[in-house]
Amino acid sequence: MTYIIAMDGPSGSGKSTLSEMLAEKLDIEYLNTGLMYRAVTKRFLDLGIGHEDGEIIKEELKDLTLSIENGKIYLNGEDVSKYLRSDDITKNVSWVSANKDVREKLVDLQRAIAKDTSFILDGRDIGTVVFPNAKYKFYITASSRIRALRRYKQNESDFDIDELEEAIIARDDYDSKREISPLKKADDAILIDNSNLSIDETIDLILKKMDQHAI
Ligand code: C5P
Repeated sequence: MTYIIAMDGPSGSGKSTLSEMLAEKLDIEYLNTGLMYRAVTKRFLDLGIGHEDGEIIKEELKDLTLSIENGKIYLNGEDVSKYLRSDDITKNVSWVSANKDVREKLVDLQRAIAKDTSFILDGRDIGTVVFPNAKYKFYITASSRIRALRRYKQNESDFDIDELEEAIIARDDYDSKREISPLKKADDAILIDNSNLSIDETIDLILKKMDQHAI
């Protein structure tokens, strides 16, 4: 029997690191759905497409292909993995991910990818929209300061800690207030605040919760 683990939560909560480690421990597959939205954002920015270009976006999505192999993400056949964490993409990803046609395409793709295999998916709407029947659902969060510090330590941004915290709060706010599939804890998701927990402690807690919830 295959199963799905949904890992949702705001930026910098450690979802992707946790999901990657858990997938390895449990010997299941992992899909980082944020990277998919980032890849589409890269394409739109490269083409000079803005949020007001609804019809052009629709056309562009028809031909756009995304695939994921060995943790690398291919956009129209090209490996774009190393570009996806830039400040420019991070700044623009929220309007791209709020677009209905973008979401429709990526949600379909996520469901197809995780159809026949056990998967852990991290994102914002996995437990609420993509896989509402997931066997396990977690909502991972931490204070905005701690999340900014984590991003700062990843050394992928030109922002200082205060700017990072401001950007994180703004992105969470946008993601939480958008009309379609907002960032939101599913009613039946287990809430984990890991502000004061290490990655290993968080993993232990998640595994304990999974044990308690085993069917
Ligand atoms: O997880 P990450 O921070 O890389 O996600 C980037 C952005 O992609 C989020 O801020 C959100 O706007 C969008 N996203 C989403 N739904 C998901 C995953 C990510 O809307 N399932």
